[in-house]
Amino acid sequence: MKFRFAAHSQCKILEPDPESRKPNPMPATILDGTRIAQDIRNEIAAEVKTMAAAGVRPGLAVVLVGHNPASEIYVRGKVKASEEVGIYSEKLTPPESSTTAELLAVIEDLNRRDDIDGILVQLPLPAHVDAKKILMAVDPVKDVDGFHPVNVGFLSTQRPGLVPCTPAGVLEILKRSNIPIVGREAVVVGRSDIVGKPAAMLLLNANATVTVCHSKTHDLPVVCRRADILVAAIGRAGMITRDFVKPGATVIDVGMNTVTNAAEFQRFFSGNPAGSAKREENFRKKGSTLMGDVHPEVADVAGALTPVPGGVGPLTIAMLMFNTVKAAKMRRGTRVPELSRA
Ligand code: NDP
Repeated sequence: MKFRFAAHSQCKILEPDPESRKPNPMPATILDGTRIAQDIRNEIAAEVKTMAAAGVRPGLAVVLVGHNPASEIYVRGKVKASEEVGIYSEKLTPPESSTTAELLAVIEDLNRRDDIDGILVQLPLPAHVDAKKILMAVDPVKDVDGFHPVNVGFLSTQRPGLVPCTPAGVLEILKRSNIPIVGREAVVVGRSDIVGKPAAMLLLNANATVTVCHSKTHDLPVVCRRADILVAAIGRAGMITRDFVKPGATVIDVGMNTVTNAAEFQRFFSGNPAGSAKREENFRKKGSTLMGDVHPEVADVAGALTPVPGGVGPLTIAMLMFNTVKAAKMRRGTRVPELSRA
């Protein structure tokens, strides 16, 4: 991207060159997360078959406390995906009224079971439950969400462990799309423990030069425009506009936001024809649309871009399957034949 120095009194301010606001003659390549996730699931299904033939069937336990409708949908998706790749799955549904002590007993039982390789506690937990205590109780070798501090430590010291699924999915998209990472500038917007920080750590471990931004970052568009790889994990619909993006950059949109307001819908999608007609029809039918943190206009500037839906989202479940198989291999290694991955 070209910059020019604007002479504002004594200081020089870096502004985007008006040239960079010209439309990119090549619209962004759409990175198809659904296809990449399917490739990963096919590879996992083949591995599970080999393991099962050797008498080891990876097992995943999903703990769903109470009746949060969104959580019920997520858990259904995870159980279905497990079945499709041949992983044994078990759903435990303690009541909403469960105490921290009762849930700890559930986790301890799963920690002890030899047929369970992965334990996933669906968040959020009811407000009266000490969620940190529950997550800490999961045996790190079965922590397929990768949230336990032991796994966080393994990631930051580049030791083998279990990596949070969504950030791991971000890296899979980049690697399988042959996006260069080594030596590139990566900017991650968002510093949550489950997405932003682990995504930054994975990019650093992959030898990118990484900047992590958050709500207190000054001059966010200027910082973002440094990025060859820009990861948006904010939770604000369409916040990343073209002014945040260096022409040709790869933009990974982790955000999942529901837009229900018709005026807001128009603001984002009118004049952005790619896929808009279908989205508009769905919006009229359902009264809502799922969109990321990246404004659709970014497709005119970026070199490559993940869509929402169909980008990072499908990778999250695929990487959960990957982690369950990895956990089985790590824990029951001597009983598993030599396999290609992890
Ligand atoms: P959090 O709310 O935990 O974190 C959001 C981060 O964005 C924070 O670090 C916050 O900064 C930062 N932020 C908020 N507003 C701004 C701003 N105006 N400028 C710069 N930074 C800002 O969210 P999560 O990390 O859990 O999730 C992020 C998004 O990813 C959400 O849309 C979520 O739905 C989605 N998601 C998608 C998944 C998928 O499978 N595709 C899985 C998980 C999440 P600060 O720390 O200063 O508050």
